[in-house]
Amino acid sequence: MATRSLFLPALAALTMTATTAQSQRGGAPPVTKNPQGLPLSPAPDYVRKDTPTDPMIQKIWEEGMQRSQVATLSQQLMDSIGPRLTGSPNMNRGQDWLLATYKQWGVSAKKEQYGTWNSWKRGAAFAQLTAPRVKPLEATMLSWSVNTAGKWVEGDVIALTPYRTPDEFKAWLPSVKGKIVLASAPRITCRMPSQVAEYSMPSTQVALDSAQRDLSAMFQGMTQRVPTFYADLKAAGAVAVFESNWSSYPGVNKIFGSPRNAMLPTMDIGCEDYGMLFRLAQNNQGPKVKVMAESESLGEQPVFNVVAEIKGSTKPNEYVLLSAHFDSWEGHSGATDNATGTVVMLEALRILNTTMPAPTRTILVGHWSGEEQGLNGSGSYAADHPEVVKGLQFAFNQDNGTGRVVSTGPAILPENGPRLAQYMTQMPAQLTQSLRLSGPSGIGGGSDHVSFLCYGAPAVSLGALSWDYGNTTWHTNRDSYDKVIMDDVKQNATLTAMFAYLASEDPQPSSRTLSDPLPNGPNGQPISIPSCGKPTRESTGFRR
Ligand SMILES: [Zn+2]
Repeated sequence: MATRSLFLPALAALTMTATTAQSQRGGAPPVTKNPQGLPLSPAPDYVRKDTPTDPMIQKIWEEGMQRSQVATLSQQLMDSIGPRLTGSPNMNRGQDWLLATYKQWGVSAKKEQYGTWNSWKRGAAFAQLTAPRVKPLEATMLSWSVNTAGKWVEGDVIALTPYRTPDEFKAWLPSVKGKIVLASAPRITCRMPSQVAEYSMPSTQVALDSAQRDLSAMFQGMTQRVPTFYADLKAAGAVAVFESNWSSYPGVNKIFGSPRNAMLPTMDIGCEDYGMLFRLAQNNQGPKVKVMAESESLGEQPVFNVVAEIKGSTKPNEYVLLSAHFDSWEGHSGATDNATGTVVMLEALRILNTTMPAPTRTILVGHWSGEEQGLNGSGSYAADHPEVVKGLQFAFNQDNGTGRVVSTGPAILPENGPRLAQYMTQMPAQLTQSLRLSGPSGIGGGSDHVSFLCYGAPAVSLGALSWDYGNTTWHTNRDSYDKVIMDDVKQNATLTAMFAYLASEDPQPSSRTLSDPLPNGPNGQPISIPSCGKPTRESTGFRR
């Protein structure tokens, strides 16, 4: 407490000084709040005008808002465990942490195998420019990349010459011997587009955009047009392949997996360094790079979901499911995708276990694996547990970052809209005043609620305020603990616990009456229910 009361005024003073200094210099214009985060106006009927009267809602509020564990859980998961690539040893560490956390709370939880996956262990990896000058490169080895057999390897840098025919590619191939190949288009500028729009002459912006479009188009599909692209590079003696997947801001790149057939070490290079390497190569200024990549391929290994459970006291065969995928990409810590969703569900269960240890319906938490490769963990769970799909009162899924939940809706089950509104009328206005309840919609896509909705079961997405998710953190090398807005996560966990409580104790079953007609699916095609595809349960069935 003492530290806190000393710290806060000091921080406030610092912030004020910075703001004043900036406005005196004529700095950035004042920022207006994102309208999505503001209270809805006029306030919908489900926003309370007085304090909640339900004593359980009050207990959940106090536990969630006054004794929140989200910061501790987030720090352990994001900093100490880190990213959780499907099938990796680090994913196993993460799942062990989940089990230990639940055990400490006296909640039963277990690992449930749903398939096998290509297990890969990240090791140290570096890249360094050695000529014409020395400079460390911002390099991240892609997941599943092969290694350099424990050695530093040095090679000249060559940019791929875009080719139109396989013969042109073959003719170019001998030039890669002993070299590091730049395989994607560079960015002409790594300034953020909003800055270019604000400061450039209109003619400059048009010229930049057009040149970038042409350059990107030239390289588009170059690594796939010849199916043996990587094997041919390796056979021709190339050392490594660099690419760059820029995320529209300086310093931010998206880091995905190495292509399945990449037989060479593959690395993502930061936008600025990649552009520099490309220009040095194009201008024949003799760029040389030294790389070292350690990794271990552990073969096809069992993969698991972790499922926690508080058994229902009187309706144990009816379920409320709290859902968030646990796996991540590996650019940084997988913080907002989806450690925050994980922490929301984990903390919601802690709150419920403390306040309501004997719910009417069974409350489950599904910590799915394999989401990033196609909803494989949740899809397998739904296929393996028809009893949960059948008895599902509601599933609540969260998977778009750290922000406050600002949207939800009944999707293809319109009668559940008023039911969700009814739940929201029980809650404090602080949790619902910005929460937009949409009307019926399609199944949507992109996250694990779809694995249940596709059976016609009531699964709801809790849509978060974006905090610029798409550019800043989603699958990027900047998806780290500091990006998490703990107040928002704390609020989301409390909201989710309240939804789970109200769904668990609801005397009425939720509706399964489908929209008629059903809206089209994500690809625009008409859908029927069930519309669930077959989950991919082994990595040999997966093309990345
Ligand atoms: Zn996600």
